[in-house]
Amino acid sequence: MKEKNTTRPPLESLACVNPDCDLYGKKGCSNLIIRKIHGRDNIRYLRCRCCQQEFSERKNTALWNSKIPEAKAVSVAEHLADGCSIKGTARLVKVDASTVRRLNQKTGRHGQQYHEQEVQDVAVTELQADERHGFAGSKAQPAWEAELMDPKSKFILAHVQGARDAILIRRLLEDGAARLHNRHVVALFTDGLAAYRTLFQEIFGVAYYPPRQGTRGPHPQARFRIPRTAAHVQIVKHQSGYRLKEVEIHYAHGSKKRIELALERLGYHVPNTSAIERRNGTARLMSAAQVRKTLAFASKGETKEAMGWWGMTVYNWCREHRSLKRLLSEPRGKKSMNRGRQLWSSV
Ligand SMILES: [Zn+2]
Repeated sequence: MKEKNTTRPPLESLACVNPDCDLYGKKGCSNLIIRKIHGRDNIRYLRCRCCQQEFSERKNTALWNSKIPEAKAVSVAEHLADGCSIKGTARLVKVDASTVRRLNQKTGRHGQQYHEQEVQDVAVTELQADERHGFAGSKAQPAWEAELMDPKSKFILAHVQGARDAILIRRLLEDGAARLHNRHVVALFTDGLAAYRTLFQEIFGVAYYPPRQGTRGPHPQARFRIPRTAAHVQIVKHQSGYRLKEVEIHYAHGSKKRIELALERLGYHVPNTSAIERRNGTARLMSAAQVRKTLAFASKGETKEAMGWWGMTVYNWCREHRSLKRLLSEPRGKKSMNRGRQLWSSV
């Protein structure tokens, strides 16, 4: 592997990292000059001509302050997102397990920050929610990951981790709703967990305050009305052992008409949570701590949390999605489909 000739990103794709600078975070302003080049990866030390601050080009990236060669760090991140364990990655990339552990934390945090920065004011009208189990610490300590996904683009809007209770569901729905352009136009598909039903009104409904009776006493608390554009349907699965016995569809909030519109938009015949369930399977292959029917679990909660965030970031932004393949307007040689890509648009 040639590590000397690592190609550096063009200067136009970088921005000043000084929050007090007028050009903070603005790319392509030709304000950056190269002060010096250092290290075996030819890392550039930059100066901003606007605020005169000097900083490494790696500042604010997952590789900042990383002492191992860039190619190895990238390889570690790739292995982790493909479901390799900490120790497995250490063996394959030939670095110490503690290095992998540190990079896992960094990539996880970076993924979470990137999600925070990019996923705002999103225009989606259908959402599926689900939780998948996993373990941290020991096989006796469950640690769940819950996600909210747009079934059309397969984009994950919200990702939270914790114990499977009403608090987790509240965090999931509140986080997802806060990232939406308009939270009152959502058709939500979930499993039968009661917390979804009790929280839907409060989070996706419109608040109103009934008038106070008389002039004494506290003002009445907010009540919530479901607008015509929002609805919630629960898909309750009854199982006997591992066998699926019956699927019960429960229209929890809003009109059946709104759900039918959602089904038409998605090309579904019956309400289901298939997109997020497919994602659960994929997520298990992308995080070593989530593999089923093995002894796999993260010995530390933070390892699992970072793996979850990093896997989700790669899923959302880096991987091609096979189900999003589209027909080419004209076949190119033997190819008639382009490669599936995240077709994502935010407002
Ligand atoms: Zn600056």
